[in-house]
Amino acid sequence: MQKVSFFKSIHVKLVLIYILLIIIALQIIGLYFSKKLEENLKDNFQSSITQSMDLVQFSIREEILKERDDTTSLETSLNVILSEFATGEGAINEIRVIDKRNRVLATSDSSNRSIIGQKSPDDIVQKAMTSGYYEKIKIDEQTRNRVWLYAKPIVDTTGPNTEIIGAIYIEADIEQVFKQLKDINSIFAVGTAMSLFITIILGILIARTITRPISDMRRQAQAMAKGNFSRKVRVYGTDEIGQLAIAFNHMTNRLQEAQSTTEAERRKLASVLSNMTDGVIATDRKGRIILINEPALSQLHVTRETTLNRPIASVLGIEQDYSFEDLIHLKEAVNLNFSTADTPYILRANFSVIQKETGFVNGLITVLHDITEQEKIDMERREFVANVSHELRTPLTTMRSYLEALADGAWQDENIAPQFLNVTQTETERMIRLVNDLLQLSKMDSQEYVLNTDYVEFNKFFGRIIDRFEMSKSQNVSFIRLLPETSYFVDIDTDKLTQVIDNIISNALKYSPDGGNIRFGFTVHANMLKVMISDDGMGIPKENVGRIFDRFYRVDRARARSMGGTGLGLAIAREMIEAHGGKIWAESEEGMGTTVFFTLPYELDEAEDWE
Ligand code: ADP
Repeated sequence: MQKVSFFKSIHVKLVLIYILLIIIALQIIGLYFSKKLEENLKDNFQSSITQSMDLVQFSIREEILKERDDTTSLETSLNVILSEFATGEGAINEIRVIDKRNRVLATSDSSNRSIIGQKSPDDIVQKAMTSGYYEKIKIDEQTRNRVWLYAKPIVDTTGPNTEIIGAIYIEADIEQVFKQLKDINSIFAVGTAMSLFITIILGILIARTITRPISDMRRQAQAMAKGNFSRKVRVYGTDEIGQLAIAFNHMTNRLQEAQSTTEAERRKLASVLSNMTDGVIATDRKGRIILINEPALSQLHVTRETTLNRPIASVLGIEQDYSFEDLIHLKEAVNLNFSTADTPYILRANFSVIQKETGFVNGLITVLHDITEQEKIDMERREFVANVSHELRTPLTTMRSYLEALADGAWQDENIAPQFLNVTQTETERMIRLVNDLLQLSKMDSQEYVLNTDYVEFNKFFGRIIDRFEMSKSQNVSFIRLLPETSYFVDIDTDKLTQVIDNIISNALKYSPDGGNIRFGFTVHANMLKVMISDDGMGIPKENVGRIFDRFYRVDRARARSMGGTGLGLAIAREMIEAHGGKIWAESEEGMGTTVFFTLPYELDEAEDWE
C-alpha cells in the first residue's frame, strides 16, 4: 500500500486546520478588542479633558464678561486661570483663549506668551466657532508625539441672544493613550502567542488521538491484506472512533473466521482431490488446465509443471479427434487407450461442464478412471465363455459323429460298436469332469468357498498320497522321496490339498517318459513349507511356464486333450493354494522336465510344541 506523505496526512491537516482556526479567531478577537480599546481609551481621555475644559470655560467666560477698564488685566487674569488649570492636568500641554476676532487672548504656556495678541495660526478655532467644536490629532514636530488639538467656542448666554465671544483651544498629549494601547496590544500579542503555542501542542495531541486509531486501522488493514489476522486495533474509548475500532476488530475476527473456513474447505477439497483414486482435471473457460490432482498426474504420467495452462485435449492426447468445444458438448465418456504391446492401460474420461445459470461456460471438469482391470476382466470373461464353449463343443462334436456312425448301422458291427460306445463314454466323462471343474471354479469365484482345515502331520499326509499313486501307477516311473525325517504339522483342508497334489502328480505322470523319475520333497522355512514335485518329462517352453496356471491354458492343446485334461486342473490348484495363503509356481525347461512348487503357511514355534 502507498505510504502517506507527511504533509498529506490527516494528522498534519487536522493540526493545520486547528491552528488556522485559532489564528483567525484570535485575529478577529484581537482586532475587535484593540479597536474597542482604542476607542474607549480615546473617549476616556477626551472626555476627561473636555470636562475640565467645561470648567475652565465657565471661569473664562465669567472673566471675559466681567466689567473692566483695561484689557491688560483681562489678559493677566486669563493667563492666571489657564496656568492654574494647565498645571493641574498633566496631559494638557497648552490652553489658549482666543477672542472672536481670532486673536490669542491668553495661553497657559508661559514660554509661549509671545503669541498673545497675535492671530491664532490654526484655522481650527475658526472652524470650531462655526460648527460648535473641532478636533484633530497631529504629530508634534519636536517630540514626534501625537497631540490632540481641540477647540470649542465660548458662548455668552447671559444676554437675550446667545453670542460667541471667543474660543478655547487646547493641545493635549494623547501619545500616552497610544502608548497605553500599544502596551496592552503587546500584552495581548504575547498572550496570543502563548495561547497559540499551547493550542498547537494541544491540537497535535488531540489530532493524534483521532489519527492514531485510524493509522492503527490502516496498518491492520495492510497486515490483513498480507494474511496476518493476529493484530488488533487498540480501543482508546467509546466515542465514534472507539466504536469504529471495535467494529474493525470484529470485522477482523469475522474475516479470520471466514478465511479459516475457506482455508479448511480448500484443504478438505485438496485432500479429497489428492486422496481419491480417480484423476480430476479442471480447466478454465478456454480449456486450459488450472487444476490437476495427484492421481491424474500419475495416471497420465505427467508433471504438474508441464500440464498447467496447457489445453486439456492435448494433455489427454485426443486433440486429433476432439476440440475443446467438442468436449463441452460431449455426453458420453471417452476411453483413452494408452496400452502397449505387453501392458494394457485404458483410462475412461468423463467430462462435465461448469456452467453459470445464464449458460455461460466457466470451465470443464474431467474425471479420469482407470478401467484397465475392468477391461481385463471383461476380456477374460469373454475369453472364458469362448473357451468353455470350445471345450464343450469338441467332445460333443466327437460324440455326435460317433453316434451318427452308430445310428448309420455301426451298432450292428460287433467289433466297432463297443469301441465307438467306449469313445462316447470317455468324452462324456471328460465333459462331466470339465463341468465339475467349472462348477468348482465358479464356487471359488463366488466366495462361497469355505476351507475345512485340520491340523495334520504333513509328512504322513504327503506320503499317503504318493503311496496311492505309486500303487496304482501303470507306467515305468520311479518315485523318489526326499521328505525330511522330522514331523511337521500344518493347518490345511486335506480334501482340497489332496486334489492339488493329485493334479500335480497326475500331470507329472502324464508328461513323464518311460523310465523317468518323479521326485517329491519339501523344505521348511521360517514361516512356510515349500513343497516340490519334479519330473524328467518333456518340460514346458520358458515363455509359457507362467501361464500354465491360467484357466484352459494348455501348452499343446491337442496332446493335452488327448490325455483327458480339461486345462483347469492347475487353475483350480492355484485358487486352492492361494485360499490357504500360499503360492504356486513352476520351473521348467523344454525337454528337461518340470518342477512345480507350492508353499503353505507354517509356524515353526507351534511345530516345535507338537514335537
Ligand atoms: P490339464 O488338464 O490339461 O493337464 P492343467 O491345468 O493340469 O490342465 O495343466 C495345464 C497345462 O500345463 C497342461 O496342458 C500342460 O500343457 C502343462 N503341464 C502341466 N504339468 C506339466 C508337466 N509336469 N510337464 C509338462 N507340461 C505340463
